[in-house]
Amino acid sequence: MGVSGRFIHRIREMVSEGEEIFPSIFGIGHVKRRLIEVLATGSGVLMKGDFGVGKTHLSNAVFSVLQGYYQRHPVYTNMGCPVRENSIHLYNYIVNKDQASIGNVCPVCRHKYAASAATSIPIERVYITEGSGFARLQGNEDIEPQIILGMYNLLRFADIGDPFDPRVLEAGKLAQASGGVLFVDELGLMNNEAQYALIQALQERQFTPANSRMTFPVDLLFISTTNNTNDFRIHKAVANRLVGIPIARAEAGDEYLIVKKEIAQKGLDVGFPELFVEFIVSAVRALNNIAIYLGPRSSIRAAGIACASALLDGREMVSYCDVKEGLFTEITGQGSDETFDEINEMLSKDFPSIVDFLKQRVPIMENAFAFIDNFGDAETAFLNMDNRLIDDITAAIADNGRSVEAIKAYLDAYAVACGI
Ligand SMILES: [Zn+2]
Repeated sequence: MGVSGRFIHRIREMVSEGEEIFPSIFGIGHVKRRLIEVLATGSGVLMKGDFGVGKTHLSNAVFSVLQGYYQRHPVYTNMGCPVRENSIHLYNYIVNKDQASIGNVCPVCRHKYAASAATSIPIERVYITEGSGFARLQGNEDIEPQIILGMYNLLRFADIGDPFDPRVLEAGKLAQASGGVLFVDELGLMNNEAQYALIQALQERQFTPANSRMTFPVDLLFISTTNNTNDFRIHKAVANRLVGIPIARAEAGDEYLIVKKEIAQKGLDVGFPELFVEFIVSAVRALNNIAIYLGPRSSIRAAGIACASALLDGREMVSYCDVKEGLFTEITGQGSDETFDEINEMLSKDFPSIVDFLKQRVPIMENAFAFIDNFGDAETAFLNMDNRLIDDITAAIADNGRSVEAIKAYLDAYAVACGI
């Protein structure tokens, strides 16, 4: 069974055990399904879209599914095999005299075991980790084919003398990923030679390191990505050999979950009123593509800056001023000299109102805002407020134990206009 077979085998196990396949990824259910289907056929995948967060997570998730396979099912390779080929091929060649099997044995194993007519082959169980069954490449112009293909180091050969020594035959990304997953972020940013080197390997399931005539078998799952703006840079011959999966931006509700999860992962000791997180997502989406593109990463960064702003001022909870600081810092930070004026115009004209947002999400807040109109500041307004009103608002906001503090923060957003 090849790598794609192991992958689908593990997926089916997970399904039958009621385990979620990619539990940490929100909102792109149909994409997950397509990704699994395409990889299961052995084809490489090209994920397309301005999707911001999902793509790296997806490739990590695919890797951990495959890692789960190797943990549960023993697969053996010949000791020291640079591509983790299944020992069964060498066994079939030596013991069953199956001549065709030698095609699946790499030159290093042929030299070490097959040619020397070894009677016992030392084997080791395959477990995959980063660098050994998982490799990533960040696409850019400067990636040379030997980064992908590996290289036969002639200088070291002169020193060491053994052409099969791992120091002489330097592994590239294909060898590192063999048996597992190769992830290429922004495939279109790689030069044509590098793109070809990849595709040839995927097509023929073998590769030849630079300066070498040795051909190595390779078996892996290939996942690449491109932003819509770089799509045209992917060579046609390359694109034709991959299955494209368009990924639309996550729904607002899922983007909100993504942002919440990212904040939680940062482990900052600061409370974030839920409706402020929602407001950030909703503002970023509302302002997207007016002057510039604002993706889910902008929501995540704006929320992060809001947390930092609260921490800097020694507050335990993010205020609306922190939120506005986060949004303005992130959005103006995305601009360039040319878009500077346009962005400022957009922020003064189109920036959504927090008060309208709060009233819309929790209509009963309007009654609380009336207290501020009477008493001037949020603190006094809150002290004069009916407990029942506070309970009603709390009930209207699905919250996490900090509700009273959160309600004060919403009231404060109404009372204070935060100039930036
Ligand atoms: Zn080998």
